[in-house]
Amino acid sequence: MGGLEQHYVNEAFKTNWIAPLGPNVNGFESDIQEFIGGDKHVAALSSGTASIHLALELLGVSKDDEVLCQSFTFSASANPIIYLGATPVFIDSEPDTWNMSPELLEIAIQDRIEKYKKPKAIIAVHLYGMPYKANEINAISKKYDIPVIEDSAEALGSTYFGQACSTLSDLGILSFNGNKIITTSGGGALITGSKKLKDRAVFLSTQARDDAPHYEHSSIGYNYRLSNVLAGIGRGQMRVLDDRVAARRRNYEFYKSHLDDFDTISFLEEPQGVFCNRWITCINTPSFEMREHIRLTLLEDDIETRPLWKPMHLQPVFKDYLHFTNGVSEQLFYSGLCLPSGSNLTDSDLDRILKKLLKSLT
Ligand SMILES: *Cc1c(COP(=O)(O)O)cnc(C)c1O
Repeated sequence: MGGLEQHYVNEAFKTNWIAPLGPNVNGFESDIQEFIGGDKHVAALSSGTASIHLALELLGVSKDDEVLCQSFTFSASANPIIYLGATPVFIDSEPDTWNMSPELLEIAIQDRIEKYKKPKAIIAVHLYGMPYKANEINAISKKYDIPVIEDSAEALGSTYFGQACSTLSDLGILSFNGNKIITTSGGGALITGSKKLKDRAVFLSTQARDDAPHYEHSSIGYNYRLSNVLAGIGRGQMRVLDDRVAARRRNYEFYKSHLDDFDTISFLEEPQGVFCNRWITCINTPSFEMREHIRLTLLEDDIETRPLWKPMHLQPVFKDYLHFTNGVSEQLFYSGLCLPSGSNLTDSDLDRILKKLLKSLT
């Protein structure tokens, strides 16, 4: 925590706003709005997953629809497609950003139009905080008139040609889960350029109560609004977001500068025009065996590292769904590794990790 969170939480208790509405919810939304810029409207919600669910709902996704989803991601990007009874179609990554391949996206769209019908939405992900190729993806979205949901759960603080991630497409989502760059313990947000869509998201997230003195419902609602207590944590966290990004980028620079001489280790580098929050520093190696050797060497000293996300098209739960693949995310899953990347790593933590990394590489 940064220090001011408790102040806003106490404020919620003092004023008795212990509810999914109140001054912290509104304040948190304006703080996010100000940070991301670009004339956007923000709805604070209970999680990133809930935000994706509502985004799909706002786009009218339902049974019989297909949604194109980046395969290399966390399962929460794809699960809400299933909640709505729709069908995911998974798209592999390109090697520059490890995110959705524009080529495969277009191939998939043409295939689905020819064999079934036009997909209803695209879910693209800025994985590990690295912006996807938004210019290319947006051009395809425009060409076929299919909206993009921008999963920015890991990318708050990243920018693409000066524009904040979560503001690059029709609908963006953020997550404030405990493992993200800032946290409310659990929380999320929906970002949209349309005031009407924001109001609709808030309406749906608070049980879809129509305007009447009694309880009147003409749509199915959700209980997805963020608590005013948790929004208080969020307001404090927004004050230290820039510091958190700086700390994560420092971790990356540290690992990169000390491992640069090893040809076998490669890093995910920022393409031109891109600023990455470096939520997690990831490396790629030539093989599963080498990755496992590094991982197990660090584990000897109780240093936990993790393989990269296992692609959705390789997950047992999604194995029967259509996918358009090129081997990129599968290779990353078998050979890549997430290094310790917390914002609170000290110099001596980093030195201790580096010692084991060097041992595993020599
Ligand atoms: C964390 C995460 C989510 C889900 O966010 P929650 O707030 O945990 O529900 C969705 N997509 C990605 C890529 C994530 O990392």
